[in-house]
Amino acid sequence: MEATQKVRNPVEKIRVSSGSAIVLDLIEGFLNAKPTTAYLLTYLEGKCSANCAFCPQARSSSGNTDMLSRVTWPIFGADRVFSKLANSVQRRDTLRVCIQALNYPNVLQDLLTIAETIKSEGITVPISISCQPLNKEEMKKLKEVGVERLGISLDAATESIFSRVKGNIAGGPYSWERHCQALLEAVEVFGKGRISTHLIVGLGETEREMTRIIQWCVDNHVNPALFAFTPIPKTTLEDGNQPALSHYRRIQLARHLIVKGETRFDKMVFGKDAHITSFGVSQEVLRREIRSGTPFRTSGCPNCNRPYYNEKPSGPIYNFPIQPSHKEVEEIKRQLRTFLDGKK
Ligand code: SF4
Repeated sequence: MEATQKVRNPVEKIRVSSGSAIVLDLIEGFLNAKPTTAYLLTYLEGKCSANCAFCPQARSSSGNTDMLSRVTWPIFGADRVFSKLANSVQRRDTLRVCIQALNYPNVLQDLLTIAETIKSEGITVPISISCQPLNKEEMKKLKEVGVERLGISLDAATESIFSRVKGNIAGGPYSWERHCQALLEAVEVFGKGRISTHLIVGLGETEREMTRIIQWCVDNHVNPALFAFTPIPKTTLEDGNQPALSHYRRIQLARHLIVKGETRFDKMVFGKDAHITSFGVSQEVLRREIRSGTPFRTSGCPNCNRPYYNEKPSGPIYNFPIQPSHKEVEEIKRQLRTFLDGKK
């Protein structure tokens, strides 16, 4: 019996985020910060069958199909992507692969084939997949071909916002209940800490609502990855605004302290407009964590740093793709000064 059977690869084309394409030497370009994860996107002639209000890939969006968030994702031949990926992993430029899925009938087959090919080519890199809810059998198939982590994006902090931006009100195929259930099932299949969900700050939720869903994620062994809402042209939410930086910093800090087990939602205090007024930790812990800069880095799977997914390199920076500098931490302290009782 031949040792490893080469997998026939029906996937001809793959989209690659422009930053990852530069790191993989697929295109030339300058990067302020290099993605440490290679971001791939399943290729589809046409639009996604879902209809998320913030997404240029959405069924009813007339947005550019080269875009996901504010990033362009050019198309490449799949075989070329795999050989460049192998080199980049060897150079240790790429520490993870994330395959983002559009929603279309054959998507599971494409995800299986891409993951299987990466493994069969002997490319030793952990694979994450970010996709719509799948059933347990489908998730098990992904795990069997070597997928390490799965992301199923709630995006919204509450059921009502969910239905408005990606559920029935948005004309989308998704339900809050099915998404939550799929996250719990994914933890059963892949294990605790191997599942993530994306949460977009700035879709109309309060800080209390965002903090509560972060706590729900952590209590159910799901890793919450934060995104700042980014208005994209020709999407339903193109006229929306990005969240205020101080608001985003409070949510980043809350997420970090909850994930680290330093506090819990029910220990925190919320004031007017359900804004956070206390994180439920000592000043010493607060200052230590803020000073570290770590809470303000991109959150998600290990080595997922998503440079400039939600902001221009010129800033303001929401998710820091690399460790914030001393000057940047000083600026963050100013954004959170009300919590630092005037002691810098
Ligand atoms: S957190 Fe990052 S690596 Fe993980 S699924 Fe999301 S985008 Fe992909």
